[in-house]
Amino acid sequence: MLTRRSISAGLTAAVLSGAPLAAARVRAPFPIWPNGARAAVSLTYDDGLDSQLDNATGALDAAGLKATFFITRDNAEARAEDWANLAKTSGHEFGNHTVTHPCDLRPYTAASFARRELLPMEAWLDDHVGRNPKRLFAYPCSVTDLGPGDANRQLARYEALLKTTGFRGARTCDEDDPNSPRYARADPYRLRASATTSDKDDPALPIAYVQDAMKRGDWAILVFHDILERRTGLGETSIATHDAVLRWLASQPVWCAPMGQVLDHIAGQPV
Ligand SMILES: [Zn+2]
Repeated sequence: MLTRRSISAGLTAAVLSGAPLAAARVRAPFPIWPNGARAAVSLTYDDGLDSQLDNATGALDAAGLKATFFITRDNAEARAEDWANLAKTSGHEFGNHTVTHPCDLRPYTAASFARRELLPMEAWLDDHVGRNPKRLFAYPCSVTDLGPGDANRQLARYEALLKTTGFRGARTCDEDDPNSPRYARADPYRLRASATTSDKDDPALPIAYVQDAMKRGDWAILVFHDILERRTGLGETSIATHDAVLRWLASQPVWCAPMGQVLDHIAGQPV
């Protein structure tokens, strides 16, 4: 079996012996991401919050970064025109985060969840930010216990519903490790993400998460909620912290792209 050490030794031996460069290139440590990037990073913004329009989009523009916004209709409705304008002018991606953001799924069957939460939200997105046949979904509150049965059956039911209603993938927010390309390809309905600044307003936390992804050539997905002048509680990130994270990302050998672009890229790779 090839270990990382033996791959490295083999690469050195190939170079010293003058073996064809193509053979050496196959064994390069991070072959998958564009332009030799050491990790992919997706910035995601949940819940369709006013502060994202007011404080996140300008910072993204300044850093030259494109993001994925997971919208809920109940929050976004009041500024529907602003979201529509953002979609027209920005190049950001817009995903589905349900109509009302339910954190308790017990009142729903799969059918009623689709009828009340998924499909009306999709219609709103179609109308305001444009149709997307490869729409992504983010699980509100990361809960997946939809319908009867044990946790595995509930999750399988939820994933099957997302597939049949046309979603091409879904993001959790469980503070789990970054996604390997192989994992993301095998299970695009359980994409893992980190919302560390929601718990503590410190740019070092998301930076450490991305650095961890860079060690293995993985895909780090960061989650933000409110971006405010001053943090007052859980779920909020200060403008200063948000800016610091974006500035750091722009200076690193990472590929920052909306989630859909990263999934497209992985789909085209021999992983
Ligand atoms: Zn949410």
